[in-house]
Amino acid sequence: MAGAWIKIYDASNNLEAHSIKGMLENACIEVHLSGESLGAAAGELPADVLQVGVWVHEEQKQVARELLQAYENRNCHDWVCPQCTERNEGQFEICWQCGHDKP
Ligand SMILES: [Zn+2]
Repeated sequence: MAGAWIKIYDASNNLEAHSIKGMLENACIEVHLSGESLGAAAGELPADVLQVGVWVHEEQKQVARELLQAYENRNCHDWVCPQCTERNEGQFEICWQCGHDKP
């Protein structure tokens, strides 16, 4: 495939990088991660504190960005518990107050 690689996201750790990679690959987008091998090479920093760049082909960046946006919205939007009306952060799948599932 022609075209340059474009970095579209800086993941804060390997786990996030790989979940994004998996999500994009599910949409048939080729993904390259950068930085994840640095930790192993240095031998001192745990790999999970490194920033990991998520790269895609330039011609797929638009689709990838849209998917990323949906991904971030899913993770970052606060939600209000329908049972106890407590406000919860987006990454939590259950209410921290009463344990009710995220709607
Ligand atoms: Zn609740």
